[in-house]
Amino acid sequence: MVCSTVCGNPYAGVVSHLRASWLSGKTRPMEYRMAQLEALGRFLDEKKQEILEATDLDMGKPSFEAYFTEILLCKNELNTTLNNLCHWMKDEYVEKNLVLQLDSAFIRKDPYGVVLIMAPWNYPIQLVLVPLIGAIAAGNCVIIKPSEISKNTERLLAETLSCYLDTDCFAVVTGGVQETTRLLENKFDYIFFTGSPRVGQIVMTAAAKHLTPVTLELGGKNPCYVSDTCDVPNVARRVAWGRFFNAGQTCIAPDYLLCTLEMQEKLMPALREAITEFFGSNPKESPDFGRIVGDKQFRRLRALLCSGRVAIGGQTDEAERYIAPTVLADVQPSDPAMQEEIFGPILPIVVVANMDEAIDFINARPRPLAIYAFSCDSKVVNQVLERTSSGGFCGNDTLMHFTLNSLPFGGIGNSGLGKYHGKFTFDTFSHHRGCLHRNMGLEALNTPRYPPYTQQKMGLITATFEVKRKGTCTLL
Ligand code: NAD
Repeated sequence: MVCSTVCGNPYAGVVSHLRASWLSGKTRPMEYRMAQLEALGRFLDEKKQEILEATDLDMGKPSFEAYFTEILLCKNELNTTLNNLCHWMKDEYVEKNLVLQLDSAFIRKDPYGVVLIMAPWNYPIQLVLVPLIGAIAAGNCVIIKPSEISKNTERLLAETLSCYLDTDCFAVVTGGVQETTRLLENKFDYIFFTGSPRVGQIVMTAAAKHLTPVTLELGGKNPCYVSDTCDVPNVARRVAWGRFFNAGQTCIAPDYLLCTLEMQEKLMPALREAITEFFGSNPKESPDFGRIVGDKQFRRLRALLCSGRVAIGGQTDEAERYIAPTVLADVQPSDPAMQEEIFGPILPIVVVANMDEAIDFINARPRPLAIYAFSCDSKVVNQVLERTSSGGFCGNDTLMHFTLNSLPFGGIGNSGLGKYHGKFTFDTFSHHRGCLHRNMGLEALNTPRYPPYTQQKMGLITATFEVKRKGTCTLL
């Protein structure tokens, strides 16, 4: 039956090999999972230099940024998982009704089986490894599909991960659209996809054919509201850092600013100062400013520079795929920069009359992965939080909510489906299996539910199964 859909598929062999390993139960013991996770830790330690070199070759990623986001954040996820795995794996015992008091009711954290992890190119190590850590911790076998666009990192993962992980249970598949299309024809037990909403739809459609559950970590345009009452230099630094980190190629980067005309005027010199402070007078020469990953992405971004008025930056160099940290003023909602996720070092400012108009602007568009709000008045920050919807939220800063693996990370609506980081990653890759293990004796307790039904049995059933509404407090 399965064979009729995937016979002749170039990846059917690797999927069935992994499935056999999963069925053998090899990945289930905690010791096995811990050993594989420790091996991933050694990969990060021993291949640190290669990771920094590959991400530099792929997109000129500054080594500080690569260390922070590709190595440190992965190690944090790894250590959190290793520190807590034995606790997370435990069965969770739950409340019971009267009839089942002598029985055992619990939630078993079962692995799904063979899972597929598909990653994009912008954080090519982290966006493979963080989900992989949770998938291994939860006892799954995994096929990893890194992005073909970050080709140096793709090669590093394909060539070296197999030296650390058990190849019977973990495999790397490389390739572009054609290969991935064939890969997706296979039946997986879970698919964890990070990438664009467009490809997210393709992945979900392929998953639907097998009724495979999915997590979709997608992108979109993240609004950043700046109120009139704020510490302008601090806002400028925090926004510029979030927008220009990794040359703007970050899914949770503030995509555009919403503020009044007066605030736009105040922010402009402060943003210019922050950019000079970070990258010097010529960011092209800064070792701390990255490059665009490919020619196609470079040309797409360059075409967005005609939006509004270039107030800061705007310089480009196609040979180097360099786009200067750029701020566009007076951008109209109909301008090209406002029609798609920017995903590069360009920050448009859209002028609004006040907070209410900013909130209406946000709510009239697809729900973003992150919303940012800056104000010295915490009521303003709370209003933006209360009256909007997004995957995550950060008040008075950008990106920093991502660094806490105690917070769930994920989108909503157009920005995705599901969540991960820390325990949320383990839970994502675990099926929460509801289990009841009954005692074989005490049959008298069961007779009220068996036919022939009587009015008296109905009374007993009600008394033993009914969940009563808690009384309201009478003291108040
Ligand atoms: P993408 O959707 O083009 O590619 C992601 C993966 O899908 C890659 O592995 C690629 O090989 C594969 N793919 C591409 N086209 C395909 C097709 N037609 N059929 C099957 N597979 C296909 O995304 P990208 O350009 O690599 O990354 C940028 C996007 O990812 C942005 O939208 C960004 O916001 C988003 N992103 C989201 C997060 C998050 O955590 N939510 C993180 C990083 C990036």
